[in-house]
This record gives sequence, C-alpha cells and structure tokens, in this order.
Amino acid sequence: MPPPPIDWEAVKTALEGIETIADRNQCQKLSSDYHTFSPILVPQLADKVADLVVRPANAAEVRRVAQVCAQWRVPLTMRGAGTGNYGQCVPLAGGIVLDMTGLNQVLWVEGGVVGVEAGAKLAAIDKITRPQGWELRMIPSTYRTATIGGFIAGGSGGIGSITYGQLRDRGNVLALKVMTVEEEPRLIELRGREVQKVNHAWGINGIITEVELALAPVYPWVDVVVSFADFMQAVRFSQRLSQEDGLVKKLVSTHAWPIPSYFTALRPYLAEGSHCVLLIVAAAALRGEMPGGSGPLQDLVADFGGTIVYQKSAPSKTHQASGKSINLIEYTWNHTTLHARTLDPNLTYLQTLFPADPGLRLIEHLYHHFGDEVMMHLEFIRVNGTAIAAGLQLVRFTTADRLAEIIRDHEDHGVFVANPHTYIIEDGGRKQMDPQQMAFKTQVDPYGLCNPGKTRALG
Ligand code: FAD
Repeated sequence: MPPPPIDWEAVKTALEGIETIADRNQCQKLSSDYHTFSPILVPQLADKVADLVVRPANAAEVRRVAQVCAQWRVPLTMRGAGTGNYGQCVPLAGGIVLDMTGLNQVLWVEGGVVGVEAGAKLAAIDKITRPQGWELRMIPSTYRTATIGGFIAGGSGGIGSITYGQLRDRGNVLALKVMTVEEEPRLIELRGREVQKVNHAWGINGIITEVELALAPVYPWVDVVVSFADFMQAVRFSQRLSQEDGLVKKLVSTHAWPIPSYFTALRPYLAEGSHCVLLIVAAAALRGEMPGGSGPLQDLVADFGGTIVYQKSAPSKTHQASGKSINLIEYTWNHTTLHARTLDPNLTYLQTLFPADPGLRLIEHLYHHFGDEVMMHLEFIRVNGTAIAAGLQLVRFTTADRLAEIIRDHEDHGVFVANPHTYIIEDGGRKQMDPQQMAFKTQVDPYGLCNPGKTRALG
C-alpha cells in the first residue's frame, strides 16, 4: 500500500515540545551547505528545501522524531553544522532536516578516550579534553563549527591525519550509538569494526546520537610557515618531513604560487612568486632556536633550501601566543579553497589522492602539465603507514566539460579522484556503495527515509 500523504499538521502536533522551525527562509538556510564551492552542484541543488527543521535537545527527542518520520514516511536528513561540501545534508526530497546541534554534551573523558553527543562541535570537545592533556586525533579545518557526528558521517580526515591517518582507520572511532528510523525506534551500539557500517555513510543509515573516540596527547604546538623559491623543493621537503618519525607534527600543507597570494593575512610573510608549506609541529622540533642555534626542523628546512618566514606558538596555560594572531589551520584543507574563492569566485577545486611515489614524479608532471589552470594544493596524510599527498587542487573553472576532462586526465595518470562535484555517493570518493552499509540501512531505515536520493544503489 502506498504511504498516506504527509499530514504536516499532524506531524507538527506529534512533535510538540521539540524545537521546530517552519519559517521558509530559515528552512532554506538550514537546507544548504558548502556545495556552493561547486559550480556544478549549485544549480542542481538550488530548489531543495526542507518542509520543517527539527532541533531535538536529547536522545529521547531524537527518538520521537524518528518515530514520527516512520509513521508518516517523512524523508529525514540529518544535519550537523552544514559545512559539508557535496550537498550531503541538502534534503533532496524535502521533509524534515534534523539539526543535531542540540545534542552537544561531552559526556566523559577517560584514559585517552572521549564520549560525546553527536552534535558537539569539535573545538568544544577539545576545550574540555585539552586541560586533561588530550585532544582530538584529527579535525577538519572547519573544526570551530563542524560537529563530530557530521565529521564522521560526512568527513574523512584533516589536521592530524599526517600522524593518525583518517577517520576510517582502525582505532580512531571506537564506538557509535545509532537511532533507527522505525515506528518503534531502537538505539543500536556499534563497536570495533562495526562502526564502519555508519562511518562516511552521509547519514543514509540511521541517526548517530553518540560517539566514542580515541584521543591524542596534547603537545605544545607551533604554527610554522616555510617559504620556497622552487615548488618541487617544497614538495620534497613536505614528503621528507612527513616521513621523519622523530618530528612530531599534525599538519604538512603545501601550496604552489599563486595560492599563497589568496592568503591575505599571511601575505606580509610570503614573497611574490614564492611557494609555501604550512606546518603545525611540536615545539621540540624547533629547539635550539636561540641566536646561532639550530633545531631539527630548521636543519631540515635548510637542507631543502627553504626559509622559515612565520612562527607562532599555540597559547597554553603557562605560555601566551607570540606573534600575530593567525589561525594557520584555517588556511589549509578546504579553507584554502574558501580563501581563494573569496578573492576569485570562478575558482573551484578537486579532491585527489596521489599514489605513493618516492620520486614525486607524478606531482611534478601534473604541476607543469596544467600550469595555472590547476594550482597544486597538497595535504600530506598517513595512509597504511606511508605518507602520501592528498590534493585539493584549485581549478580555474571554465565549463563543466573542461572540468570533467581535467578529472579524467588525473585519473588517466593514476591519480585517485573523489569528485566533489556530485551529490551521489558512488560518483564521489566511494565509486560503489559499501555492501555492509547498505545491509545496515535495511535494518535501521526500512522505509528508506534517511537522506534519500544520495545513493544510486537505491534507485
Ligand atoms: P554536515 O555538513 O551537517 O553533515 C555532513 C553529513 O553528515 C551529511 O550527510 C549529514 O546528513 C550527515 N550527518 C550529520 N550529522 C549526523 C548524525 N548525527 N547522524 C547521521 N548523519 C549525520 N572535511 C574533512 O574531512 N576535512 C577537512 O579538513 C575539511 N575542511 C573543510 C573546509 C571547509 C572550508 C569546508 C566548507 C568544508 C570542509 N570539510 C572538510 C567538509 C566538512 O566541513 C566536514 O566534513 C565536517 O566535519 C562536516 O561536519 P558538519 O557538522 O558540518 O556536517
């Protein structure tokens, strides 16, 4: 039997006591994300708006929303902070957008592990765990606004991934609690390898309500910018530093000119035409910094012909920040694209992964091959124990056909492309749906209500 038409008045009555937003402008705002970086996605997603936004304050309220959606067959799209890049939380079929930011408690911190509610912002989690000597192992550059649930369902890695790999790597996400979308919703706990059922599933298979994460020890971190006259020397330095086991770091972010020209606040430190590497390293890497002294990082920089042009210690309880207040994190990962697009809205980007290549020949070839049309932005990450370059290249957009050609050209050269210009999971990084995630979907979302339209596997 076809489902009854949605009686929105009955739905609203059933949700009484839970915060709801029906105002069209607000619904529009809360139905969008940063797919605006893609000239392909903008027209495709322009008219997709939720009928209602619901903002539960606790798991009991989440349960009630899930129940009502199952009863009335209301499409349900989860939303954290809406910083995703591929329309991940855009409600293609309307219905309810479930804003999870009300579930924002850090529940406990114990022995290097934290338990949090899914709507907690990443920076807010660190604020609680850092005084105890622990911090998140990896964060996206949107860590000030993004939620942990959104990061796990929609993100992959970021600052910290050079040491701890990505979210999908064993041992980073320890457990998840997931609410099913049924007439009698259940709360399922996933632990160990089971977390992969939901990790990076874009919220198509249940509502994450709680997360348990392994943490990293906090070091006295220092932001450093190194300038290079030659781009490939910058890349060689980046790869070498990424592989130096004795130098503790959480960011190695490499940018070919003219990308540094988009970093307005950093411009006083970056000479015209120069390339740069943005780093966050433990302070020990710079010891020996007294006049005439040289620390291990300075030695490495010298070996590759670079120059340290900027340095700032992170503030701590005993130690105030020195130098100008620039948050280096917010120049890296997809914040690079954000800064560039602020100055030139015709720019867009790619998401790529280079194969392990000690000689870095492919990067060098593609750097020259595309010239100014595709500008090299590399983020070094650890994959299966090896440091490799992930690219978030900036592209001067001309036409959809040319963008597709650029993507194909990368793939033909053996570069993996997670196409950020599609809202279909299989057409992005996945290529095909994970059968384990699809099997889990049939258990937790029997009516196919969660984030409909995002996977081709369901038609
Ligand atoms: P949202 O965008 O709200 O949601 C993302 C996905 O998760 C959606 O499919 C949504 O339905 C689902 N979801 C949200 N909450 C839940 C829940 N509780 N249960 C089930 N599903 C849920 N990403 C990276 O990985 N690394 C980066 O360094 C990075 N840098 C970025 C920089 C910029 C400037 C921008 C705009 C984006 C960047 N991103 C990055 C993408 C994005 O910021 C991250 O993936 C972020 O963690 C998403 O969190 P969010 O709370 O905004 O999630």
